[in-house]
Amino acid sequence: MGINGYTRTCGLIGDPVEHTMSPAIHNTLAQKTGENLVYVPFHVWGEHLGEAVQGAYALNLLGLNVTVPHKQAVIPFLSEIDPLAAQIGAVNTLVRTENGYKGYNTDMPGLYRAMLSDGVSIEGEEVIILGAGGVARAVAMLLLQKKAAGVILLNRTVERAAKVAEEVNAIAVKDGGFGGKAFAKALPLQDYTQIPADKKYLVIQATSVGMFPNEEDVVIEEDAFYEKIHTGYDLIFNPPRTRFMQLVEAHGGKAFCGAKMLLYQGIIAYELWTGKQIADELAEQIYRTCF
Ligand code: NAP
Repeated sequence: MGINGYTRTCGLIGDPVEHTMSPAIHNTLAQKTGENLVYVPFHVWGEHLGEAVQGAYALNLLGLNVTVPHKQAVIPFLSEIDPLAAQIGAVNTLVRTENGYKGYNTDMPGLYRAMLSDGVSIEGEEVIILGAGGVARAVAMLLLQKKAAGVILLNRTVERAAKVAEEVNAIAVKDGGFGGKAFAKALPLQDYTQIPADKKYLVIQATSVGMFPNEEDVVIEEDAFYEKIHTGYDLIFNPPRTRFMQLVEAHGGKAFCGAKMLLYQGIIAYELWTGKQIADELAEQIYRTCF
C-alpha cells in the first residue's frame, strides 16, 4: 500500500483492540476499491475517551469504529447521532462532519445484510432471542423494524429480558402497535418448554456463552429446545462453529455464525466514510480473504 500525503486515516478505538479483525477488513476493502485509505487500531482507555475523539478530529481522521467498552460512553463526545443509533443507545461508527463526528450504529444493519446474504428472512417470523444484553436489545429493535411477527427473549436473568421487552413494546405501540398484542415477551431460560411446539423458530443466539476459549459451553443443552429450531443464528464469530450451531444442525436446522455480521458492520462503516457502495460479490471476496 502506498502511503503518501493524500492518505486518509480511519481506525478503531476500544480497550482492548489487539484481537480485532477490523484492520484486515478495512485495509483489504481500501486495496480492492483503490481508495487511498489506511485503517489502524488505537488502544484507548476509558479516562482518555473524550480526548481521543477530540484528538482524532484535530488530526483530521476520516472516521472511527468504536468497540467495547466505549459504545455508549462515546455518545456525549459526538456532534450528532443517527436516529437508529440513538434508539439502540450504542454507537460503533463515527463519521467526520464539519462540526465533529456523527455517530452511527452499523451492527444491526450489518446483521440484517448478513442475514440477507445467508438467505435468512425476518419478516413474519416468530423469533427467539437467547440473551438480553446490549446486543440482544438491539436485535429485538431490528426485528421490530423488519416486521418480525413477534419475539421471545430467553435470558438467565429474566428481569433483564423483561426490561428489554418492555422497551421494545413501548416502541411497537408508538409505531402503531400489534393490535393490542405484545410484540416481545420475556421468559427465563428454562421456560423454553412453554414455547408452543406446533411450529419451528428462528433463534438468534446473542449471549456470550460458547465464545473462545469456552467453546464447549452452550446456553441451553436439552434436545427439546433444538427440536423447535429451523434456523439458528449465533452472533459469536470465534469459534466459527459454536456448540449451539452444532446442536441446531444435529436436529436438522440450518446454522450460521456471526462472522458475516462482523464483516457487514465494517462494510457499512466503510460505505459511510467513503461514499462507495460495496457490491455483494466484493463482500464475498473480502469474506473469503479475511475469515
Ligand atoms: P452483554 O451485554 O454482556 O450480555 C451478555 C448476555 O449473555 C446476557 O444476556 C447474559 O445473561 C448472557 N450470559 C452471559 N454468561 C452467561 C451464562 N453463563 N449463562 C447464561 N447466560 C449468560 O454482551 P453483548 O454486548 O450483548 O454481546 C453479546 C454477544 O454478542 C458477544 O459475546 C458477542 O459474541 C456477540 N457480538 C457479535 C458481534 C458480531 O459482529 N458478530 C458484535 C457484537 C457482539 P444475564 O443477563 O443473565 O447476565
